[in-house]
Amino acid sequence: MSNYDVVVIGAGPGGYVAAIRAAQLGLTTACVDRWAAATGHPSLGGTCLNVGCIPSKALLDTSHHYHAIQHAFPAHGITAGDVQLDLAKAMARKNKVVANLTRGIRGLFRKNKIDLKTGTGALLPDKQVEVRAADGTTQTLTASNIIIATGSAPITIAVAPVDGVNIVDNEGALAFDEIPSRLGIIGAGVIGLELGSVWSRFGSQVVILEALDDFLAAADRQISQQALKALKKQGLDIRLGCRVTGTQVTDGGVRVAYNSGEGEHTLEVDKLIVAVGRCPATDGLDADAAGLALDPQGRIAVDRQCRTNIEGIYAVGDVVAGPMLAHKASEEGIAVAELIAGQKPEIDHALVPWVVYTHPEIAWVGASPQQLDEQGIEYKSGTFPYMGLGRAQGAGQTDGLVKILAAAHSDRILGVHIFGANASELIGEAVTAMAFHASAEDLARIIHAHPTLSEAVHEAALAVDGRAIHI
Ligand code: FAD
Ligand code: NAD
Repeated sequence: MSNYDVVVIGAGPGGYVAAIRAAQLGLTTACVDRWAAATGHPSLGGTCLNVGCIPSKALLDTSHHYHAIQHAFPAHGITAGDVQLDLAKAMARKNKVVANLTRGIRGLFRKNKIDLKTGTGALLPDKQVEVRAADGTTQTLTASNIIIATGSAPITIAVAPVDGVNIVDNEGALAFDEIPSRLGIIGAGVIGLELGSVWSRFGSQVVILEALDDFLAAADRQISQQALKALKKQGLDIRLGCRVTGTQVTDGGVRVAYNSGEGEHTLEVDKLIVAVGRCPATDGLDADAAGLALDPQGRIAVDRQCRTNIEGIYAVGDVVAGPMLAHKASEEGIAVAELIAGQKPEIDHALVPWVVYTHPEIAWVGASPQQLDEQGIEYKSGTFPYMGLGRAQGAGQTDGLVKILAAAHSDRILGVHIFGANASELIGEAVTAMAFHASAEDLARIIHAHPTLSEAVHEAALAVDGRAIHI
């Protein structure tokens, strides 16, 4: 039996970051993780590094280059002859990126003297964790504090059971060994749009079936409509208000039956991706036996500081309420480690930025106009189109806009919404400004380098007061 100040269960961006922060603070720390790569060796980083954020962005970049060389470069006077895609090489590169990063976390664990335990962590009474290894052996750890960071898993639907070959989830969709000519996707959420973009740029005909009539309902409506138009123009066939009623695996692929509200339809595809959301992963934890309370959605119930109903046990990341995002998981992990060490951390959950890595990218932080209207909050809005930027014109990236929403009376920034190239980087300035309670006037008074895309943020801030220069 080994005794620790902190035992973390799960080594995704919530868990591994919590373990590193705990160790930095001088706490003896172990981290239990059950993810083992094909080799049987641990592969740290959870969903994010293994089958989520990182491999999807690696393929988004590869597919962007492949698409750009054929469709964007000619406008710059650059033509390439016979452009070929070596998918096996692209996948090998993606795998290498993942392997480098997961190995990097092992290095960080060694540097910070964190004990890695490979296996499934189950809660026992009195803050003990049993580590059940794949070979059947077990060991028991005792801890003064336990941090649960077991993450999430794809939601499955009975009408489209994932078989890993014809019907796949995110994991299968990041590892096709050939480009499907016809690709179906259920769900026009973040995964559907990102992976739909990857395979569409590689040459698949992509049809996305979305149950809701609204497209990207959480985003600003003007931006979601512009994004829908741009993505459709790129070739993504996004069908809203379509509910899948059944699937049948055939010789050639998958036959998908769906209802559009106006009638029944059939779609024939080579591969089908199911991307209808994710659910908390509590299997293997023995949460019930340990008396750990779950909320009605099956997530581990926590208070604002990620405390569960059992003293000394905390939970962070996808397994608790809030957006299922890597940076949210990591911030919670850091905060809990600091809380355990006696500090007084605070997380402002209202300032978690969202990014959808389509091209152009979609990013936002804070409230949307719909939310402010619903809450009856009066606001002013300033918008600036990428078209008005010298840098965007030079780069040929003129699609998009920045929108800033500020309180009508105080001018405090309440939300920032961006659709355009590099939105994922530009949103950082908005988060920083909002974290410091900035007004639109504050942003308008800050010098932005010329020519940059960040000038759109500056101009949108000026536009809040009707004084943008370049429109
Ligand atoms: P996870 O990353 O899921 O890690 C949980 C870990 O715990 C896993 O290693 C799991 O094996 C382990 N585990 C579970 N149960 C046990 C147990 N009982 N014992 C031991 N180990 C256990 N988010 C972003 O912010 N940006 C993105 O660009 C982005 N892209 C994504 C793309 C895809 C395709 C997907 C699927 C997700 C993406 N996400 C993205 C979401 C992001 O991956 C998650 O929000 C993040 O990984 C959550 O971190 P976590 O630490 O809570 O859980
Ligand atoms: P999602 O919640 O983003 O989207 C799921 C979509 O599927 C929704 O639009 C929903 O209406 C639709 N849907 C649900 N059931 C359906 C059905 N039966 N038929 C048709 N449509 C249906 O979920 P996701 O795309 O699976 O992604 C899961 C989570 O992973 C995201 O919410 C996000 O937290 C995280 N993620 C983040 C990023 C990023 O930050 N860039 C990228 C990928 C994933």
